[in-house]
Amino acid sequence: MRHPISFLFPVAFLLFCTGCGLGGEPPRERLSVEFLHVGQGNACLLRHGSHAMLLDAGPDSMGIADTLRRRGVDSLEWVLVSHGHRDHCGGLFELIGKIGIGKIWVGPDTNEQWALDSVYRAARAKGVLMDSLFRGDSLPGLEPWTSRVLWPKPGARVADNGASLVTQIGDNSANFLYVGDLGQEQETALMLLEPSLHTNILQVGHHGSATSSGLPFIGQLSPEYAVICVGENPWGHPRAETLARLSLIIRDSSKILRTDRQGSIRFTFSSGFGFWPD
Ligand SMILES: [Zn+2]
Repeated sequence: MRHPISFLFPVAFLLFCTGCGLGGEPPRERLSVEFLHVGQGNACLLRHGSHAMLLDAGPDSMGIADTLRRRGVDSLEWVLVSHGHRDHCGGLFELIGKIGIGKIWVGPDTNEQWALDSVYRAARAKGVLMDSLFRGDSLPGLEPWTSRVLWPKPGARVADNGASLVTQIGDNSANFLYVGDLGQEQETALMLLEPSLHTNILQVGHHGSATSSGLPFIGQLSPEYAVICVGENPWGHPRAETLARLSLIIRDSSKILRTDRQGSIRFTFSSGFGFWPD
């Protein structure tokens, strides 16, 4: 993606400030957020200093290990699996044993599904730690950015797409929201829990399915950018009605992005300063 002109000034100003040590402030830290092109599925690489983490691992056999190595990543502090469907966790087949993984975070529904899945057994066989996340938890290694797990609540009766871990990462200047395959029913429940939730960059739920991204939800979030993680698929993702709803909120169509068209999509966050697309 090209830098829109509107983003050149912040970048230039940032370089000026960090170059001259303006005001004696500590150097701004950066967080790279890259939605990887992994076909029909999700994998989002976070890089912060020497730390690298992954939100979902994409589907099986999409070369996720090589994709990471090409970016100089040979170990991951953690992998968060939003839910147990193969288009989000199948890539762990490749990663386990090839890329060091400190821990795998899962939601409440995922453990049950993984008990039936050889990915789960592969992780255990290699001694990769697994742990659960719920609403109210945060993710390690991202400071000074704040990470908040917003969904699901502990004890919630959720399954499949509705069990998707929802995570917001950023600071008071900008944030992005990762929703996995969350459906509209859970979007409504999340709005009740978070009536003032807003985001700058939304990972569009369930690859642009019609059953996600309800107008009240995306209207409340009011994102500046939407990223649809999608590849060739038999379900018509992203659905035309979902794109139409997104267009009502994001008037600039160049800010509704798709991994099947743009390839991997990266943003850089600068602490206290906002973000820009790369
Ligand atoms: Zn999915």
